[in-house]
Amino acid sequence: MPAPAAGKLIIISGPSGAGKSTLVRRLFADPPGPLETSISATTRAPRQGEVEGVDYYFLTPDEFARRRAAGEFLECFEVYEGGHWYGTLQSEVAPRLAAGKWVVLEIDVQGTLAVLERYPDAVTIFVQPESMAELERRLRARGTEAESSIQRRLEGARRELPFAPRYRYQVTNTELDQALRDLRTILAGQAN
Ligand code: 5GP
Repeated sequence: MPAPAAGKLIIISGPSGAGKSTLVRRLFADPPGPLETSISATTRAPRQGEVEGVDYYFLTPDEFARRRAAGEFLECFEVYEGGHWYGTLQSEVAPRLAAGKWVVLEIDVQGTLAVLERYPDAVTIFVQPESMAELERRLRARGTEAESSIQRRLEGARRELPFAPRYRYQVTNTELDQALRDLRTILAGQAN
């Protein structure tokens, strides 16, 4: 029997408010390949509706530090928003790649650069807003965010957008359906 094809690592980044999570959710609704998510670990508290082991593994700072010291993370960082730790567990990635899956990581820029050191062939995709002005408009239109949170996200976007050219692909989310088509085209191109 032929050996199963090795999987692919797909990294999707982009500032919050650019529509990244919505795009990934839509992608999984009709996946263009054997897509699976990697569930990240974090020290931040669950938001309303978030489920342990589905959205994240919610760890105490001590447990996170213990796993970090034990070398369980492929990458982990203190992410700007709120100063919490986030990380990708090796156990989420390696077994799926070995099983031929396409493992999707939704992580920030610093995490991406670290993963690329280990997996230089990872397919990197940066989802960007049309402009900073449009990003700000979208964040405000949600109507659910405190001003301080909006400012923190805008600051994060200003820090991350200059890294977009370091990604193999850039998807500009001007219109959601078109951005989804672009994402699908990129992934369909990886299927060999
Ligand atoms: P949120 O708290 O809104 O779920 O995520 C905040 C930020 O953390 C996002 O930019 C997201 O991409 C990033 N993030 C989520 N999981 C990971 C991870 O495992 N590693 C890294 N480096 N960043 C992550």
